[in-house]
Amino acid sequence: MTHLTLQAVTRRFNAAHAVDGVDLSVPDGKLVCFLGPSGCGKTTLLRMIAGLETPSSGSIHFAGRDITRLPANQRDFGMVFQSLALFPHMTVAQNVAYPLKLRKTVKHEQARRVAELLDLIQLPHMANRPVTQLSGGQRQRVAIARAIASQPKLLLLDEPLSALDAKLREAMQVEIRLLQQRLGITTIMVTHDQREAMTMADEIVVMEKGRIAQVGKPLDIYRDPVSEFVADFIGLGNILPVTYDGALGVSLPGGRRIAVAQTARVPDSGGDIRLLIRPEDVCVKPASAEAGANRLAGTVTFIRDVGASLEATIDCAGFTLTATTTPRETPGLTLGMPVLAELPPHACKLIAARAAH
Ligand code: ATP
Repeated sequence: MTHLTLQAVTRRFNAAHAVDGVDLSVPDGKLVCFLGPSGCGKTTLLRMIAGLETPSSGSIHFAGRDITRLPANQRDFGMVFQSLALFPHMTVAQNVAYPLKLRKTVKHEQARRVAELLDLIQLPHMANRPVTQLSGGQRQRVAIARAIASQPKLLLLDEPLSALDAKLREAMQVEIRLLQQRLGITTIMVTHDQREAMTMADEIVVMEKGRIAQVGKPLDIYRDPVSEFVADFIGLGNILPVTYDGALGVSLPGGRRIAVAQTARVPDSGGDIRLLIRPEDVCVKPASAEAGANRLAGTVTFIRDVGASLEATIDCAGFTLTATTTPRETPGLTLGMPVLAELPPHACKLIAARAAH
């Protein structure tokens, strides 16, 4: 069931469109990420859903009701923002109990619920500690517990992990995701980190300049981006300007022709097109391997070997490819080594080039 629906939602600040004609359905119980570069309108869109910002036009419905102009405090949504805004003079338990107190929940019910939530976030032993004495990750969990204390119908998270260091951030991504799945609470999270979105989301909404560029499951977007912008934003990719020859083939910079398996995204308009191949799809072979279709001669110009995986930059005269392999798959790879880079036709996607600015 779709709980939240946005229709042509637009927000202008003076003449500029921060959010421009967004249509979106958020399915019940799912975690949806708004993903995009700084300034693309993610936070403004989330704030309109929260009721902290009013759309210039368009409408927002929740559970069948028009909430476009409903004040934030009447929406019963839970929110966690970048600055967690925990109350520093209160203990962990008092922070979590705060929304229950506001709602005049009876005392023993408040205590029961707080205990349940502290168990859920695995901090029952810290109930009486001032929040100022918690680590960043612990504070994060308290903020989430507070946001879900009054059993909101929708949980809104705006870059809730941006202040944490990389390791804690990854741990919290998993923790929030597991919690969200256990509670089945419909959640929208803003992030500009594609890895975070890929890790956590059921659906990703990629935004570009106030509009939706693509909506879909993380892997679908990764494998089948609709545009150069989306391909570039979601994960590493080799994106090369090519000329389509109309017969399942393209010419690479430098003139070499390679075969592609699908041309679904070749723009009808005849605009510029790009070849996308993800680094893990580029197969690195020894230069002595048999030459063949889609095998390009090149030289290794950079190696990033982090033990579990290995990323090689290959200069192919006219363009550069990045290939991800493992040290086991390509033993003995060294700088300056001539190699063959194979681009399997099924992994070669054609996409419309980004419009020139
Ligand atoms: P970030 O990742 O940097 O937080 P964002 O994608 O969340 O960016 P928004 O904060 O929604 O982007 O901003 C979208 C655009 O709207 C930006 O160009 C921003 O400058 C503008 N904007 C946002 N809020 C206001 C405001 N109150 N007044 C004027 N312009 C605003």
